[in-house]
Amino acid sequence: MLLENMAYPEVERYLEKRDVVLFPLGSTEQHSPYGLMGTDFIAAEAVARRVGDRLSLLVAPTLAYGVSAHHMAFCGTVTLRPETLAGVVADVIRSFLAHGLRRVLLVNGHGGNVAPVQNALAALKYENAPGIYELVSWYDLPEVRQAAKELFGEEEGQHATPSEVSLSRRMRPDAFDGKPVRPAGRHRPEHHWPLNAGEFRAVFPDGRMESSPWLASAEHGEALLEKAAAALAERVEKCLRLPLHEPSESTGAAGRDGR
Ligand SMILES: [Zn+2]
Repeated sequence: MLLENMAYPEVERYLEKRDVVLFPLGSTEQHSPYGLMGTDFIAAEAVARRVGDRLSLLVAPTLAYGVSAHHMAFCGTVTLRPETLAGVVADVIRSFLAHGLRRVLLVNGHGGNVAPVQNALAALKYENAPGIYELVSWYDLPEVRQAAKELFGEEEGQHATPSEVSLSRRMRPDAFDGKPVRPAGRHRPEHHWPLNAGEFRAVFPDGRMESSPWLASAEHGEALLEKAAAALAERVEKCLRLPLHEPSESTGAAGRDGR
């Protein structure tokens, strides 16, 4: 159920029965000479949409930009400032809340988004916004980590991983025509983290981080997509069972314990 394909009376009917929305988040950034610029948002969108199909839930349009400053030494990368991403995510959630969508599952495909998005969620709760918000990075689900380890072992690495590239190969097979394939093999430089754009390119000159994206295939992508969707669906169902509490007017947010 894609929000972008619905008319407002259909959204009204959905809201009579449901209060949940899936919101995919990604990035537009380099993923080695082989992987697509859109890898992160293509993968997050695929996982969110499969769960949306399976559980008949609303899926919002994907946010295709994230915080990717450390990849800016590679052409085509686009970055938001962390405060911009946090501001956009908070405004989108405020809009959902205004319509009664009080359970918001953020399905993320990019590590650089995690801290700013968590800040946005904390800020919403600080201002006493109602509802349940959960940020799930599909690649970080234990079930997916395990499957990736079984498929690719040490070649998985941390960026431009064969896992995420497999999902994008599954979703956009034609985009890989003519992309250069190289033999597997890792580049494991000593480094600190975080890195700025110039430092990143100096340490990881072709954009991979200890990964062999060339091991990716559409078949592996389908297996990982299914694994991620099943694991995420379980978490969504758990979230659907949680009670919603009206915000208390007597307790100010400041100074309250976190969870
Ligand atoms: Zn990525």
